[in-house]
Amino acid sequence: MTNLSIVGSTGSVGTQTLAVIRDFPGSLFVIGLAAGNNVALLSSQVHEFLPKFVSVTAASPLNIPVNTRIVGIEEIVTDDQVDLVVMASTASAGRASTLLALGAGKDVALASKEVLVTAGHLVAQRSIDSGAEIRPVDSEHSAIWQCLVGEDKSAVDGLIITASGGAFRDHTLKELTRVTPEQALLHPTWSMGKKITVDSATLVNKAFEVIEARWLFNIPFESIQVVLHRQSIVHSMVRFIDGSVKAQLGKPDMRIPIQYALFGGEHRYFNEEEVGYNPIESSPLTFEELDLRKYPCYELVLEAGKRQGTFPAVAAAVDEVAVDLFLQYKIPFHGISSLLSEVLDRHSGRSNPSLEDIIEAEQWAKEMTLELAESVSV
Ligand code: MG
Repeated sequence: MTNLSIVGSTGSVGTQTLAVIRDFPGSLFVIGLAAGNNVALLSSQVHEFLPKFVSVTAASPLNIPVNTRIVGIEEIVTDDQVDLVVMASTASAGRASTLLALGAGKDVALASKEVLVTAGHLVAQRSIDSGAEIRPVDSEHSAIWQCLVGEDKSAVDGLIITASGGAFRDHTLKELTRVTPEQALLHPTWSMGKKITVDSATLVNKAFEVIEARWLFNIPFESIQVVLHRQSIVHSMVRFIDGSVKAQLGKPDMRIPIQYALFGGEHRYFNEEEVGYNPIESSPLTFEELDLRKYPCYELVLEAGKRQGTFPAVAAAVDEVAVDLFLQYKIPFHGISSLLSEVLDRHSGRSNPSLEDIIEAEQWAKEMTLELAESVSV
């Protein structure tokens, strides 16, 4: 029996995690649920899963069963009974509670990219110090984790991360100047939240994944290759020094990597009819070079990741504000890359930052983005 706390239970990964838990009532038990503002959904989750604790950011009243207590998020992620914390919140609370959970020796199934992107050095160190494990939930990192099972680290030559290319992979450069939020939200293969779907269209999501992979697997940036793979069937690959390559394949369904993370790297029976992969049905599988001229955000964010210090946190903060402005029709699609470039240019950066330094840099970046957004408005 594994006792779980889920931070961000009402989001896309949170609800899919609960869908997996529903299928394993004897093995997975919900101890704590934490969410932001979706009180109606949180309330229905609490009544279904009857957790010991619940935490909510919204001020509106939450209707809960008699045996459930409302507590702060710290308690949800550090309580003695918790074995595993599923971190699926993109809010900054996700990063603080990941550090708390790891510090308390709790293993963390990590779905929030921002945690490792913005504070990778702190999170990795916390995991080393406490011995608590970070289990990737993202499909690409789950694939790499699976390919590395039984392998000696010294035999690994590099990683090949696949990218679907997002909603605009077949748009011309000219067409890209006129795309709308509605178009950006039409992901070709995965069904996800709004922010991450726009991040897939700009490929910021993929730059985040490269930075995450660098921390999760301690692999240098130069050894990580990204290829366009339209079918989202090969979730990523590992290249070995003898020229051999291992890949992990499967339907694009987040419940598969979520389940693998919840069970600590074990394959469990899953509804074969829904998720079963047949190579003939999704043939052929193709791999192409990414046309980086179409994805200026990708290189900006990746470069920020390579510079380390406060740069990746600044890139993530700018992206968060810029995507929000784009979704509100306040800036055009290409405004996201202009803002990334302009704010990163103005950032002086700090190496080996503390959490406070990171928070301060993010605050500065968000204000600067809003200020500069006036000049790229539609
Ligand atoms: Mg992914």
